Amino acid sequence: MSVIGGPSLPQERKLVTSIPGPKSQELMARKNAAVASGVGVALPIAVVAGGDGVLVDADGNSLIDLGSGIAVTGVGNSAPRVVEAVQQQVAQFTHTCFTVTPYEGYVAVAEKLNELTPGDHEKRSALFNSGAEAVENAIKIARHYTKKNGVVVFDHAYHGRTNLTMGMTAKNMPYKDGFGPFAPEVTRVQTSYPYRDGLAGADAAAVAITEIEKQVGAANLAAIIIEPIQGEGGFIAPAEGFLPAIQKWATENGVVFILDEVQTGFGRTGQMFAANFEGVVPDMVTTAKGIAGGLPLSGVTGRAEIMDSAHAGGLGGTYAGNPLACAAALATIETYEAENLLEKATKIGETITEVFSNLQKTDDRIGDIRGRGAMMAIELVESGSKTPNAALTGAIAKYAAEQGVLVLTCGTYGNVIRFLPALTISDELLREGLQVVVDAIAAN
Ligand SMILES: *Cc1c(COP(=O)(O)O)cnc(C)c1O
Repeated sequence: MSVIGGPSLPQERKLVTSIPGPKSQELMARKNAAVASGVGVALPIAVVAGGDGVLVDADGNSLIDLGSGIAVTGVGNSAPRVVEAVQQQVAQFTHTCFTVTPYEGYVAVAEKLNELTPGDHEKRSALFNSGAEAVENAIKIARHYTKKNGVVVFDHAYHGRTNLTMGMTAKNMPYKDGFGPFAPEVTRVQTSYPYRDGLAGADAAAVAITEIEKQVGAANLAAIIIEPIQGEGGFIAPAEGFLPAIQKWATENGVVFILDEVQTGFGRTGQMFAANFEGVVPDMVTTAKGIAGGLPLSGVTGRAEIMDSAHAGGLGGTYAGNPLACAAALATIETYEAENLLEKATKIGETITEVFSNLQKTDDRIGDIRGRGAMMAIELVESGSKTPNAALTGAIAKYAAEQGVLVLTCGTYGNVIRFLPALTISDELLREGLQVVVDAIAAN
């Protein structure tokens, strides 16, 4: 079956079978027989097309997509500019390996990253394939530059699934359990989690800095890396002042301050980068997910003197900065600008906040509503307490899926529903999807 996706797909929720339908179940049976069990799936439908706010499955169901493949298709699935750019590139050449024979697309993406990331200092970029690979390389470069080993990460952090980034990630199940040993020299300190710690940003930062000084010491510390809003950990936005205080300490102590904007970057939060909300200027920033409209690409961008400290041949990878992915990234960045997607992200955040603030007045199991722009979440708790309510969270995701709405969960305690729609979703479809989540909460 050949189905054209993109914005021409009808923007509707339409169920013609139960979820998953027979063809989806057939694919799941093949998947279970052929694909390693460790590769789990959140919603077992066989996707045949996607566009803006919807995913269409092999049974002909059209589901509202509030996850965007985990914050990747911010410009919408098969966004027209991305499709055109990739089609043109795929007919020209598919691969050379940039470190063998270079091409313009890679350089143009690096120029764009240098221009768009926070700060107006001189920058350099390097491209890779995945978020984890970008994080690994940022740490590599910071160590090379500082000639120190230590890395500080935070509670609830998520940085990926490779060996180093697994060790940097906080949550054991499912990311780390049984997969050790992990890379050494990684120290975890307290983050700022306003809903649960009640601390002002400066006070939470003081706790973290004391831990850093006592457990590592600046003389041994290469880098501090943090997500400006923690993603998998539960969309935890630190209290105001936390990030600037950590950055200030890092700068004063010769420690490279890295923002992992793999999930928050590229317009997701209503700013091109989440660092912009508090005017934080990191020494390095990692990007991926929303960067290339769904093609695999990631980047590390940083101060020229730090980035250039690594010798030629020290950075790279066979596929890193693949020409198709670079063409897609340039078209994606053009789309964010041409379609005012930052404004749309802000509006999406307002709508989500409005819907759940209303519900919170009558249902105190909605403990917290947080995030920014099109990266919003609700944290669910037991009535009358702050005890995490993972059972309710799972029930909501299940109910929503059965009603044709894909929502993702997250959080260290598994009690957070996160909303990451395409920035191009219509207000009508977004509200319809949110109403299903509201119904799901009422039904549970
Ligand atoms: C998803 C994510 C990663 C890992 O990216 P992959 O492309 O899955 O390797 C790293 N950091 C953050 C903040 C993420 O959200």
